[in-house]
Amino acid sequence: MDENRVTDQGAPRGVTDTDPASASGGPAADVVRLCRELIRIDTTNRGGNVSVGEPEAADYCARWMRQAGMRPRFFESSPGRVSVIGHLPGWDPDAPGLVLHGHTDVVPAEAEEWSVDPFSAEMKDGMIWGRGAVDMKGMDAMILSTLLHLARTGQRPRRPLTVAFFADEEAGGVYGAQWIVDNHPEVFDGCTEAISEVGGFSTQVGDARAYLVQTAEKGLAWLNLTAVDRPGHGSAQHPDNAVTHLAAAMHRIGTHQWPLEYTKTTRMLLEQVAELTGTVFDEADPTPQLEQLGHAMSWVAGTLRTSTNPTGLTAGYKHNVIPSTATGTVDMRLLPGSEQEALATVAELAGEHVTVEPEHRDVGLETPFSGDLVELMVTALRAEDPEAEVLPFMLGGGTDNKSLSRLGITGYGFSPLRLPPELEFTSLFHGIDERVPVDALEFGCRVLERMLEPRAEA
Ligand SMILES: [Zn+2]
Repeated sequence: MDENRVTDQGAPRGVTDTDPASASGGPAADVVRLCRELIRIDTTNRGGNVSVGEPEAADYCARWMRQAGMRPRFFESSPGRVSVIGHLPGWDPDAPGLVLHGHTDVVPAEAEEWSVDPFSAEMKDGMIWGRGAVDMKGMDAMILSTLLHLARTGQRPRRPLTVAFFADEEAGGVYGAQWIVDNHPEVFDGCTEAISEVGGFSTQVGDARAYLVQTAEKGLAWLNLTAVDRPGHGSAQHPDNAVTHLAAAMHRIGTHQWPLEYTKTTRMLLEQVAELTGTVFDEADPTPQLEQLGHAMSWVAGTLRTSTNPTGLTAGYKHNVIPSTATGTVDMRLLPGSEQEALATVAELAGEHVTVEPEHRDVGLETPFSGDLVELMVTALRAEDPEAEVLPFMLGGGTDNKSLSRLGITGYGFSPLRLPPELEFTSLFHGIDERVPVDALEFGCRVLERMLEPRAEA
């Protein structure tokens, strides 16, 4: 891309409301307003470079970044695909940089399936309703509201911050985080760790309220399977049939019982759940612990095994012609640490007549649930919720932390939300009637501010 399209110019568009609340409101003073206004900017990402609204959302974030003391720069990877990044100095000259990042895009919403307009940001039952409330305009608003409060009260965070609002996360970050890491890695110079989405929310575990911090992500491999054999007439005896080979391979791969496999993260999580609920953790059957995980149960269950789902088959063009080639696609999700073994198993299951090639791969991540930043998260959560239990978990999907990991930056999913136990929170990601409680967002701002260890400027 053309270097002069990286710019710190750009006037905010579509922002007509009055200025944000005063310092008296604390770090959460602006969070509701920011979250609602972001939801009202339709940033639907349909994948394959088809999207709307990211430039407007980047402009909107940039406006508040400037008020928070940053000079934001825009990064346009392709026409209409805009991310915005700014820096804020810290008060501790020895502290390494911390990335706070969010994405501005959202997955599509079919309005007729919703009970409210998905882009109106309606307030109902103490919650903000709309596409992106959970994933992840709520956290975007929490970051901005917290930093605005620091600026208004003349405080700085301990660590220097790189604050990024990326485009295109929902389609793998090709036009967002991936592109910036490839083309402008210098933006993240000095940063060692990152904080972002999908983690830090509470779930009921037995009688305890447990916050799940994301310290690991599964990897992915999108596989192309190809069978090539002798073409022929459909009326003949013909055992060397590419369609038959491929169908058999797909059946073996799709029905394979992947074994239970624990990483440091999932083992620690299940052991701690066992302790909290007075159950015994038996490696051969984690059901008693999974059943105690509330709305997080299916997510955690999905991180205890590799998975291989056949997703496509293509072969042939006529009933009476045996084609020479048949192809198929498989979505494979891998556990960090055993990727090579799992890929070898798939090749074996495919059999001698079928080749397996990855079309796209993304790394799995895992980092220990320890260290200064993790301790800060725990301390900040307990300061706001003295009964908080804090546990690590692995995410089955991926986030922009995968891209940042290529720069040696360790990422955590930590968007702290204290949630009512009856809310099926995990099903709201990409779900119908996506919504987030206002008091959870306010709680999150207070936790984030504590975690940044602010201090009055000298
Ligand atoms: Zn997201």
